Amino acid sequence: MGRPQTIKEIFPGFWQILKRFSPYIAPYRGKVAIAFLALFAEVLMRLLEPWPLKIAFDGVIASSSAKGDFVDAFLRNQLSPTAILAIAALGLVLITLLRAIAAYSSTIAFAIVGNRVLSQVRHDLYRHLQNLSLTFHHAAKGGDLTIRVISDVGLLKDVIVTAFLPLLGNILILIGMVAFMTYLNAELMLWVFLLAPLFWLSTLRLGKDIRASARQQRQKEGAMAATTAESMQAIKILKTFSLEEVFARTFATHNQGSLHVDVRTKRLEAQLERTVDVLIAFATALVLGRGSQLVLEHTLTPGDLLVFLTYLKNAFKPVRDFAKYTGRLAKATAAGERILDLLDRQPAIYDRPDAIVASSFVGRVRLTNLTFGYNSEQPVLKGINLVVQPGQTVALVGSSGAGKSTWVSLLLRLYEPTSGKILIDGRDIRSYTLESLRSQISVVLQESLLFAASIRENIAYGKPNARDAEIIAAAKLANAHEFITKLPQGYETELGERGVTLSGGQRQRIAIARAAIRNAPILLLDEPTTGLDQENESAVVEALERLARDKTTFLVAHDLSLATRADLILYLQDGTIQEQGTHAELMAQNGFYAALYRLQVLSRSGSVQQAAPQEDEHALFG
Ligand code: ADP
Repeated sequence: MGRPQTIKEIFPGFWQILKRFSPYIAPYRGKVAIAFLALFAEVLMRLLEPWPLKIAFDGVIASSSAKGDFVDAFLRNQLSPTAILAIAALGLVLITLLRAIAAYSSTIAFAIVGNRVLSQVRHDLYRHLQNLSLTFHHAAKGGDLTIRVISDVGLLKDVIVTAFLPLLGNILILIGMVAFMTYLNAELMLWVFLLAPLFWLSTLRLGKDIRASARQQRQKEGAMAATTAESMQAIKILKTFSLEEVFARTFATHNQGSLHVDVRTKRLEAQLERTVDVLIAFATALVLGRGSQLVLEHTLTPGDLLVFLTYLKNAFKPVRDFAKYTGRLAKATAAGERILDLLDRQPAIYDRPDAIVASSFVGRVRLTNLTFGYNSEQPVLKGINLVVQPGQTVALVGSSGAGKSTWVSLLLRLYEPTSGKILIDGRDIRSYTLESLRSQISVVLQESLLFAASIRENIAYGKPNARDAEIIAAAKLANAHEFITKLPQGYETELGERGVTLSGGQRQRIAIARAAIRNAPILLLDEPTTGLDQENESAVVEALERLARDKTTFLVAHDLSLATRADLILYLQDGTIQEQGTHAELMAQNGFYAALYRLQVLSRSGSVQQAAPQEDEHALFG
């Protein structure tokens, strides 16, 4: 009947996916072999199952009427009816027992391999996602990625163990039974074959519909997860702008769509199963009619007819199950495609083959002709040249969108320059391994992300295996020790979802402690005091000042009072450095910077004194 080919026709995707995952399966060759052996044994036992019945039937019960074939003729000549019945009964129990053992072994072996393989796939996928570029992550929807890592992989695993392998067993059984049936009586088999095209057509047509429907269902679920993740991330904005209704409506649309498609999938699956049921009934009726005639003509024994009918029922049950598995396999194919789609994406930034592990940086940074744009049409930074000496602080100022944060990302090698170079200690940063480059750079961002873990762990993320003394020293440097020890659980206080809520300034100081514990020679600060109240701001500024001591520091400052102390201030506009110098020099120059500074100072009516620079040359901030 060419079943395997049909499967290949219906599921080229699934076949491709299995092939692509084969390197993952290779280490478990031994277990896979055992599993297949057990599967074959199970199939064999299922094929043998009706034979004890035939022996009992032809050998004892119907012995007077039947023509008899070599099996029952041999048994009848040699053994008494009681002995034949005993053999039949014993055979029945033995076959069932062996079949149970084989089925159990193959299920367990396949489950072990399936779980191990897909855990590895999930692990690799997660690592791969971490390596993919920020450009990819900006474009991707967080919820959709979560679905791919968690449920798509889970689904693929479940389906391989609960649908693909049983299906494989079923195909073997089908082939075996068809062979046996042909052996028992070729004419009867021919009658069954008459119905085969109907089987074929119904599985092919409905299978295709089920596959399309299942794929749609996954898409809807992905969209729903994305909406949820997106709106939960931006819940504050959602509430502020009273957008709850709008998002709830989008969610409801996806939800409704998913429900609709889900029901349709189920309906198609059920339709296919029942169609096959009816076709089996037709085949059974045909065989029963013609078979009984043959028995009366003594060309077939009653036992043979019994075996034939049992086979017919059992052989085509796999076809019906095949329908049941069709939907699941289609879902798994969609899931597998989505996983492979991610695994096939190349990380834009990776270690060069000849990358070296950077030794401790002195901290000399040079930019030569640096040009970068997120897309080729619009450069964000254009031909920047700059030399920064170790320990210097450079403030990046300018209007929003001027490219300041982009500059910070480029130093971290989160993006690669379109042309030109960034050199640290005289070498292109692309010649270092990413790990050794980034481990020597500390970062404090505008809104520092703290993880759902204890305060101690959050600080220790800056330096894995940090000792307690180091953690406390870092917290002290960051002006955080005092408020941490006042918390009931101190350093063990849990943050995040079920933990305490800290103020913006407190969070920022923990982030500073996290940066401080690295003691990295290069420091990147991206608007670290934005949105803080006066009291918190001065605590944070003081901490930052301590943190920045002796480090090559790049400070993105919206608030110019932070920038005034820098050794060098760069005023960026249109992707180029419009003005550069110290605060005093730029004020004397009376250009963009001076104008912006006056604007800010004036708008803070009365706080001129505080914003003005002080005398100490080495202090970073006011
Ligand atoms: P600044 O920090 O000075 O406000 P940014 O460096 O954030 O400026 O942005 C510079 C320009 O690059 C802006 O026009 C911004 O819209 C664009 N930009 C920033 N991040 C991305 C991104 N991930 N993809 C595409 N464009 C971006």
